[in-house]
Amino acid sequence: MAGRKLFWQIYPAFLLITLLSLAAVSIYASQSLYRFYLDQVGSDLISRARLLADELESGTALADAAKVDDLCKRLGRNSSVRITVIDPSGRVIGDSMENPALMANHSDRPEVIAALAGQLGRSQRMSPTLKEPMIYAALPLEKGGKVIGVVRTAASLQSISKAVRGIYFKIAFAGLVIALLSGLITLAISRRISRPLEELKRGAEIFARGELGRKLSVAGSEEIAGLVETMNQMAAQLDERIRAISSQRNEQDAILGSMVEGVLAVDSHERLLSVNAAGLRMLGISPELKGRSIQELIRNPALQRLIRKTLTEPGPVEGEIVLEQETSKFLQAHGAIISDARDQGSGAVIVLNDITRLKQLENLRKEFVANVSHELKTPVTALKGFVETLLDGALKNPEDAARFVNIISEQADRLNRIIDDLLLLSRIEQEDEKIGLKLEPARIRPILASAVSALQPAAAGKKIPLELSCPEDLSAKVNADLLEQAVINLVDNALKYSEPGNAVRVEAKKDPGWLVITVEDRGIGIDKAHLSRIFERFYVVDKSRSRKLGGTGLGLAIVKHIARAHQGSVSVESIPGQGSKFSICIPAN
Ligand code: ADP
Repeated sequence: MAGRKLFWQIYPAFLLITLLSLAAVSIYASQSLYRFYLDQVGSDLISRARLLADELESGTALADAAKVDDLCKRLGRNSSVRITVIDPSGRVIGDSMENPALMANHSDRPEVIAALAGQLGRSQRMSPTLKEPMIYAALPLEKGGKVIGVVRTAASLQSISKAVRGIYFKIAFAGLVIALLSGLITLAISRRISRPLEELKRGAEIFARGELGRKLSVAGSEEIAGLVETMNQMAAQLDERIRAISSQRNEQDAILGSMVEGVLAVDSHERLLSVNAAGLRMLGISPELKGRSIQELIRNPALQRLIRKTLTEPGPVEGEIVLEQETSKFLQAHGAIISDARDQGSGAVIVLNDITRLKQLENLRKEFVANVSHELKTPVTALKGFVETLLDGALKNPEDAARFVNIISEQADRLNRIIDDLLLLSRIEQEDEKIGLKLEPARIRPILASAVSALQPAAAGKKIPLELSCPEDLSAKVNADLLEQAVINLVDNALKYSEPGNAVRVEAKKDPGWLVITVEDRGIGIDKAHLSRIFERFYVVDKSRSRKLGGTGLGLAIVKHIARAHQGSVSVESIPGQGSKFSICIPAN
């Protein structure tokens, strides 16, 4: 609950205390003053009475009532004190204000009773004669140890009150001035106490807004100065810590952001805490979805199971996950628990490794091994079959024997070709992967001419003209042997799949930055459906035709690898029935 402002708590309390004390002091002072005044008047009355008593006791005047009355009137003329002389019977024999003959017997007055008993009499009461409150003092007149009368002096209480009232007004006025002054002083003091606290509050608000670099300066007492100093130190420390934390965080973000592995963190309720850029990409989620549950975000039961297992079981967890997106994605996941300061699991971190390419390579390898085995098995089976036939008696028939041995020789050649091609392929791959293919600047024309002349006899045999077009000065950084092999493979194919008379043309030219070698024939062409696959190992369009022509299905795969080893590529354009055009494209320098 928000309390009142400190100023409004201090100021009214101070003011109330001041006013109450002022009022108490004023009242006490007024009363004391009144009492003091009364005492003074009482003493004055007694001393005046004493003077008259002395005079009356020493002379004989008391016997003459008229004389006594005259004396009273004379003495009382110039003062406000009333003087009365009374005989022992209570009869008034002299009075400064009234005619004694008209006055009642005074023997019942309390001060007179006391004086007649030989004591000093005092009283305050209404005067039945004057009808106003009066203060009285009475002294006995004694002669020879006998009371012979009473001298009484009296003063009006109203005149005392009147005199005191003036002083009351002065006290009240002074009180008012003091109250006003103390109100102002209290205001200043309250401000002085509350202002530094308000400034401190504003300073704390500035810190709370995060402006921790600011320094507070509040003028005030030693305690306030100490508090300000402590707050400034606290803010500076906080600022330093926040900076350290945010720089650590930035570092962490930079590291996580640059990782190729996907990293995601979840809390103990399987809600996504954070995920790096690679993780977002792999899982196809957006960063705004932090805080949502994994079940909702990633609809992959295997990953959900792995996260649950990481959170519930001790030790790291490992597993493989397949994400069915446009294409299947294979991820290797490692899960580990995140421990908090008390060494209790507060969540889990999952690291995802995209192993799709590895998987593809592994599949390719498996496929390749299967293909190789199959391709090798065919000639070996044929060899074994014919050898057995020969052993079973065909040897005895020279005609059959010659035919079978011929076939055996052909199959052995085929086996040899396949093994040669495989060895070549693995050589290219190994050299390219391990040390990089050795490329040297060389003129291109001699390389192409050598390939063409190697196949010239075969072309002549099929009556196919072989044309070569290449500028003399064309050169590039190449591996001459392998480039020649690639051209031989392409020309060999062109001759194999062309009818006699249809020329095969080998051409090399410069395309800005690139060297392009094309081998073009006007042969049978390749159907569009096969174009994307003919560069795969062992892929052939027509198996029996390829085999009949001595093909291994590895020729174009070798060309592709040679082009790649030159940081280039190979492509094909073909129209069935019209011919094909293969192009090797490698960087000119
Ligand atoms: P092969 O040893 O069977 O020739 P390649 O890898 O060299 O194997 O070629 C793969 C397939 O591509 C061949 O089987 C053939 O069907 C097709 N092919 C290659 N070159 C040509 C071409 N110049 N004309 C038509 N078809 C071709």
